[in-house]
Amino acid sequence: MSRKYNFSAGPAMLPLEVLEQAKAELVDWNDSGTSVMEMSHRGKDYMSIAAEAEANLRDVMNIPDNYKVLFLQGGASSQFSAIPMNLLRGKDTADYINTGAWSKKAIAEANKFCDVNVVASGEDSNFMSIPDTASWDLNSEAAYVHYTPNETIAGVEFHDIPDVGDVPLVADMSSTILSRPIDVSKFALIYAGAQKNIGPAGLTIVIVRDDLIGDCIEGTPAMMDYAIQSKADSMYNTPPTYSWYLAGLVFKWLKGKGGLEGMAAINKRKSDKLYAAIDNSDFYKNPIDLGCRSWMNIPFTLGNSDLDGDFLEQAAEKGLVTLKGHRSVGGMRASIYNAMPEEGVDALISFMAEFEKKYG
Ligand SMILES: *Cc1c(COP(=O)(O)O)cnc(C)c1O
Repeated sequence: MSRKYNFSAGPAMLPLEVLEQAKAELVDWNDSGTSVMEMSHRGKDYMSIAAEAEANLRDVMNIPDNYKVLFLQGGASSQFSAIPMNLLRGKDTADYINTGAWSKKAIAEANKFCDVNVVASGEDSNFMSIPDTASWDLNSEAAYVHYTPNETIAGVEFHDIPDVGDVPLVADMSSTILSRPIDVSKFALIYAGAQKNIGPAGLTIVIVRDDLIGDCIEGTPAMMDYAIQSKADSMYNTPPTYSWYLAGLVFKWLKGKGGLEGMAAINKRKSDKLYAAIDNSDFYKNPIDLGCRSWMNIPFTLGNSDLDGDFLEQAAEKGLVTLKGHRSVGGMRASIYNAMPEEGVDALISFMAEFEKKYG
C-alpha cells in the first residue's frame, strides 16, 4: 500500500490509524455481528458510540456544560441559514465580518432573513489581511456577530478571538476547529462541516450555548431548529451515523496526540516550516499579511505560472497530490490539517526546493 500525501482543502486526509481501526471493525463492530453502518441509531450499540464521540469531543475541546453539541447534516452551508433562523430571536439585524469567500456566502444567506451589517471587510486588501478589530463598527443591538476564523480559500486566519462585548459571537470554524485549543466560553455558537478537520463529509457539528436555543423564527424547518435537534439529541431523524462514528475515532486519536495542545504544537511547526520555505525562496510567494497567515491552508504561487502544470505533475509523481489552488486564487494551495503528517510537509518542502533548483 502506498498512501499519498493529500493536500486537498476538503474532503481532506484522515489519520491513517483511524482508517485502520475503521477497517478492522468495518464488517463486525465489537463482536456485535454488524457494521456500524447497519446499526439502528436508536439501538444500544450505536447510542454508546454516539455518546462516547460526544464525550470525547467535549473533553478535547473542553466544552462547558452549558453548551449543547449537535451532530447535524447539511454541511456548514446549511448553518449559514440556520444561524439567523435560530439566533435572531426577535431582532432584525446581525453583524458580519467579511474576510473572504466563506464570509460572503454566510452574508448572502443571512441577508434572506435579516438586515446584515457588514462591520468590517478585507475587500480593500483583496482579502489578504484582516481589518484591525479596533476599526470594527459593531452594533451593540445586533442579534449576534458572525465571523470566519479561517478563510479556507485565501488562507487568512484570525489568531485571536475578537472581543465583541456582550453580543453573541458566532464562528464558522469549518477549517480550523481542533487545530489548537480555543476558549469555547467566548463563543455563543461554533459550527463546522466535518470534512476538513473532523471526519468524513456528511456531518456538521454545532456547539451552541444552551440559553440561545429556542424561539427560532416562524417557518424554520424542524431539521434546522436547534431546540428540536437538541431535545432529540441530534436524532430527530436518522443522523449521519457512520460519519459520527468516524469522527468519534478522530476525537480519540486526538487525545492520543496530546489533545489540542499537542496538535497545536505540531500544526505550528508544520505551517512555520512551509511558510519559511516559501519566504526564503525567490521563486515561491504567499501574499497573505504576516499577522493572519493560516495554519491550515497555505496558498502559494510560482515565479512563473506557466510552470504550474509541471509542478502539479511532478509533485503527483512524488505522491504529493491535490495541490492545485482554488480557481479564484490560482497557483497552489497546501491544506495541512491535523491528519497531514509532518513528513508530508517535509516531503512537499523538499520537492519545492528541487523544483526551484531545476526551473527557478
Ligand atoms: C468548506 C467550508 C464551508 C462549506 O462547508 P460545507 O460543509 O461543504 O457546507 C464553509 N465554511 C468554511 C470556512 C469552509 O472551509
